[in-house]
Amino acid sequence: MEKINPVGIFPAPRYKDSGTTIFTVMSSMAQQYNAINLSQGFPDFDADGRLGEFLLEACSHGFHQYAPMTGLPMLRNEVSEYIFSTQEVRVDEDAEITITPGATSAIFTAFTSILQPGDEVIVFEPAYDSYIPNIEINGARAVTIPLSAPDFSIDWNLVKDAISARTKAIILTTPHNPTGATLKPNDWNTLAELVRNTSIIIISDEVYEQLVYDNEKHTGVLQHPELRRRAFAIYSFGKTFHITGWKIGYCIAPPVLTNAFRKIHQFLSFSVNTPAQYALARVLQQPPSQPANILLQQKRDLFLSLLGDTPFTFHRPSAGSYFQLAGYSRISNLPDYEFAAWLTKNHGVAAIPVSAFYRNRKDDKIIRFCFAKKDETLKSAGERLKNVVD
Ligand code: GLN
Repeated sequence: MEKINPVGIFPAPRYKDSGTTIFTVMSSMAQQYNAINLSQGFPDFDADGRLGEFLLEACSHGFHQYAPMTGLPMLRNEVSEYIFSTQEVRVDEDAEITITPGATSAIFTAFTSILQPGDEVIVFEPAYDSYIPNIEINGARAVTIPLSAPDFSIDWNLVKDAISARTKAIILTTPHNPTGATLKPNDWNTLAELVRNTSIIIISDEVYEQLVYDNEKHTGVLQHPELRRRAFAIYSFGKTFHITGWKIGYCIAPPVLTNAFRKIHQFLSFSVNTPAQYALARVLQQPPSQPANILLQQKRDLFLSLLGDTPFTFHRPSAGSYFQLAGYSRISNLPDYEFAAWLTKNHGVAAIPVSAFYRNRKDDKIIRFCFAKKDETLKSAGERLKNVVD
């Protein structure tokens, strides 16, 4: 094997603390052992067929060159209509919307556009795995607050205590990955009270906004007129249209934050794949007849009924997102990373160990399953999980 550093170069990485993201680790392991992959969050069912037709249309209409740095105007216009129809909020398509190469990139760009070394950012754990690395790469410090068991709600007293003169931002996620918990209007009201006389900026990761179940409605930061003036709201077409591989998302923020955001975006990404932006705009002109939350709620319910026949436990049905948490303490005492590897290798089902979402790898013996799969995939996984005994 070739030596890893044959000429002795020293890249001096800005960020040395992380291994490979758990989503890559578990998806590779699923492939290696030919397991059913309920780990990384991506659908295995078909996307809206019109997307392909519109991609071809984009190419035959000559949409081959750079899109504007801020995003294709026709797409920003459709996004603004989409936000109005789903959240009854008006956003300015030119001054407030930026199309990005995925939500992960938008979150990084938002952090980079506001953070200075020494700043603090409040993060709720379990936290999506990119947040803390993003903060630390920017020389800032993550101040973590645990979500409250058993329903993973926010204890606002802890937030009050965590706010300091150095708090630059608070990042929230709703629907929440990995827990599936959702924020309620009262959460936003309390947050508004806490930040009212500060310069704290809110970053709200709402990539699963469409996937809220049990007749509840998504409540996001844009719907709070006061908070909205200090917030980045981040979304993902990958989740909206079940096309995670398209890697296109968007950021909505007031002009002062959008200007800062674009200063980074223009030198990081510059712009986003033009034909794909065209296709997304065309699809948004005629939304699909079946709302995604109906489809995904059926899948959640199917998965939960299958899980009921296994030794796994769950506290409550996921209220939103692609994910359901499940406990395995009736099956094994293994740490969750080892349990997830064991389950993949020995029982052919891959899941995500939830300690990956804690900086200190707190292990509650819980794993995360993605139920955004064909019914037949879920049923095969259910059959395999039925036989799980230590
Ligand atoms: N958001 C996806 C998940 O939580 C993963 C995205 C990624 O792999 N970067 O599973």
